[in-house]
Amino acid sequence: MNSITTDRPVSSASESEQTDAPAVLRLDGIRKSFGATQVLKGISFEVRRHEVVALLGPSGSGKSTLMKCVNLLERVDDGQIWLGDTDITDPRADQDKLRARIGVVFQQFNLFPHMSVIKNVTLAARKVHHWSKDRAESRALELLDRIGMRAKAGAYPDQLSGGQQQRVAIARALMTDPELLLLDEITSALDPMLVGEVLTMVAELKSQGTTILMATHEMSFAHDAADRVVLLRGGVIAENGTPREVMDESQDPQTKEFFSHFR
Ligand code: ADP
Ligand code: MG
Repeated sequence: MNSITTDRPVSSASESEQTDAPAVLRLDGIRKSFGATQVLKGISFEVRRHEVVALLGPSGSGKSTLMKCVNLLERVDDGQIWLGDTDITDPRADQDKLRARIGVVFQQFNLFPHMSVIKNVTLAARKVHHWSKDRAESRALELLDRIGMRAKAGAYPDQLSGGQQQRVAIARALMTDPELLLLDEITSALDPMLVGEVLTMVAELKSQGTTILMATHEMSFAHDAADRVVLLRGGVIAENGTPREVMDESQDPQTKEFFSHFR
């Protein structure tokens, strides 16, 4: 696969190794309920520049809710979410501008079936961010080229494999060169044979310095590729540490039980 870059230069190794790299995303005391159901009961953590953070937890633990709060698809009840220096929970924040700074890919239904690949990839840049057709198409073709999909620019989603569709969705999420990429179980709906190509693309983005928060059940990928894992349980953060600390060395009985299902 060709290399994928986000147009931002990767900082020197010494900077990326520092634990005090600036926080791209900071959640501070996030609470969110649906009716009487408290889903997030005070969530605080950071994603630093160039980090890949895996968000883990059982189904229903609030991973998608948390992602939606970051992407402004859900409003938090309490707490703050900072993207760089911007408090995105401030009602006065410019939502479209913020969305250009965050790329998002979901589990499924990412591409519009009645639109070609190039239309899908350029749509938000054109309609939401008011890019010219030329600018959007040249950026889209550049991204498709990097993932070896340029020849499919005129194809429709049903002519692509699920793995190719998710790679196109990732390319689309990178259009505006976002500071943060949110990936919400992007391989969960895929045929197992197609998971690898998508995870390879994520690993490649990581090596290019992309900052990523990903909800996933792909534990071996999280173990090998994430810089940190955050484990949600019962609406709170049960664990936040390196994959080794959380997945191999935690002595918490519930944590051990959770990971035992994936061995
Ligand atoms: P996960 O992504 O970890 O599987 P979710 O964030 O999707 O978890 O869901 C967390 C909980 O919030 C679940 O109990 C789910 O039923 C509930 N929930 C999520 N979205 C809504 C909604 N829009 N309305 C009501 N309940 C919701
Ligand atoms: Mg989910």
